[in-house]
Amino acid sequence: MTRSLTADVLIAGAGPAGLLLAAELAAEGVDTLIVERDPQRPRRSRGFSLNARSLDLLARRGLAAPFLAEGHPVPHAPSVGLPVTADLHGAATDHPFTLGIPQSRVEEILEEHALAQGARLLRGHRLHALRHDAEGTTALATAADGSADSPSPVEVSAAYTVGCDGGRSTVRKQTGIGFPGTPATTWHLLGDIVPADPGDLPPGPHTGPGGTVLVLPRPGYVRAMLTDPAPPHDPHSPVSPALFADALEHALGRPVRMADHIWLTRFGDAARLAERYRDGRVLLAGDAAHIHPPAGAVGVNVALEDAHNLGWKLARTVLGTAPDGLLDTYGAERRPAAERVLAHTRAQALLGRDDPDLRPLADLLEDLLSRPGAPAALAETLLGLDTRHPMGAEDPGAHPWLGRLAPDLDLVAEGRRVRLSELVSRRRPLLVTLNGADAPDGARQAGVRTVDAHCAAAHGAAALLLRPDGHTAWVRTADGRQTGDLRNAVARWCGESDGGAPEPTARLRA
Ligand SMILES: Cc1cc2nc3c(=O)[nH]c(=O)nc-3n(C[C@H](O)[C@H](O)[C@H](O)COP(=O)(O)OP(=O)(O)OC[C@H]3O[C@@H](n4cnc5c(N)ncnc54)[C@H](O)[C@@H]3O)c2cc1C
Repeated sequence: MTRSLTADVLIAGAGPAGLLLAAELAAEGVDTLIVERDPQRPRRSRGFSLNARSLDLLARRGLAAPFLAEGHPVPHAPSVGLPVTADLHGAATDHPFTLGIPQSRVEEILEEHALAQGARLLRGHRLHALRHDAEGTTALATAADGSADSPSPVEVSAAYTVGCDGGRSTVRKQTGIGFPGTPATTWHLLGDIVPADPGDLPPGPHTGPGGTVLVLPRPGYVRAMLTDPAPPHDPHSPVSPALFADALEHALGRPVRMADHIWLTRFGDAARLAERYRDGRVLLAGDAAHIHPPAGAVGVNVALEDAHNLGWKLARTVLGTAPDGLLDTYGAERRPAAERVLAHTRAQALLGRDDPDLRPLADLLEDLLSRPGAPAALAETLLGLDTRHPMGAEDPGAHPWLGRLAPDLDLVAEGRRVRLSELVSRRRPLLVTLNGADAPDGARQAGVRTVDAHCAAAHGAAALLLRPDGHTAWVRTADGRQTGDLRNAVARWCGESDGGAPEPTARLRA
């Protein structure tokens, strides 16, 4: 029998995007349900890192600490095929390192957090049908394995549905959102395996007569990756232990006996971007909206960025307190960011081919990137640390922080030392006046939370308006320049509950 469930927001997929989004929504009091195809959290871990941008964003939610406590920092951004290391020293981040931590552990921590905020998670249910109209969405999810003791199907009615269901997103397909781009031209095999003799596959690249095998050490096993010499007609078909062992032998010219395998798979270098991130009451985030070559290990991180950007906007829209057009700024901000990710990962994948025709390009890059400051600028570009959202400002040049995530300033406010991220983590727009500057007209009057603070590193700023995600929406400098009318910025980003003055909108669902 089909069970009927309701939620303000239905999320398909409990990967990094779905879990962080659920936490963001639930923390704002939005009734949030995730349906996840897998009955259990998978044993394997696809990614193994959180980058500086993710850590900066998680810190704006008071969430970086559990990851920092477990991960291992390395002082550069991961990259492939580039002639210099993308050193994070001097880059615009509060976390100038990449944190080595398994994606499976990242998901575990995010899941605990989402559930603690009040989100519901229904595992073992695959969303397979979705309808939507001006009033809401209706989804059908059935037991993923179809066995007799499977849980019963559910029909979920929700005001909004978000597809966080990965690169082959059912939500995207059901909504008819196109996914144009370039198909995979190269396929790689990946094996998380335990060699019978660890001496057979020590860490490092191993080149044999049939190709190169890259071996990375992992706790209790190794990750071996190599070009698939003969991808099948359906590259998504399972990779058997025999197929993987044959490919290893073909590359190395010698057999490698496996004592165990944890995960065997194949991945390609396709790059695709959703035509739009929203169709009425359906939205996409994470791999459902963009896929790209894994070069640079940014996938988890871009998924988290999407969720961080969407959460507060969707919450306010559902609760009826968002200013007009707020939800559409999600796609307007995140789709161009994904376009850059696709371009940068494709460039790395090309350079990683070690094609002699590309040697002059690599040499030119080496010349350019050897200049002082260039490695940090490279890291900022690869990780999106230079992300600057359009703020509709009249004088965008008035201050370099405009549109960017404000740095995690060390402040003295309300009689104590406090980091700016701690103030942002309260999820409300924030007007900060610095070093005795007068409170500007507009925000305090409109009721936006205002904090008077002292800061030794204000970078010429006298007052800042921050969005709930920590991005700088408006700045006045100490010499009196400002990036436009504060009232316009308040009207654009702040909702009714923040004291802003949008047109009141009815709560969309009872
Ligand atoms: C080999 C490899 C290595 C990688 N290494 C890194 C790395 O080091 N760093 C990094 O940042 N990224 C890495 N990535 C990329 C990263 O794993 C993905 O970009 C990331 O997982 C995307 O997160 P997501 O939440 O958007 O989607 P996913 O993690 O794919 O989550 C989607 C979820 O939706 C579920 N689902 C799918 N369909 C349905 C449905 N119809 N109904 C319900 N649930 C559904 C799935 O079971 C899954 O749990 C790597 C990828 C690969 C393939």
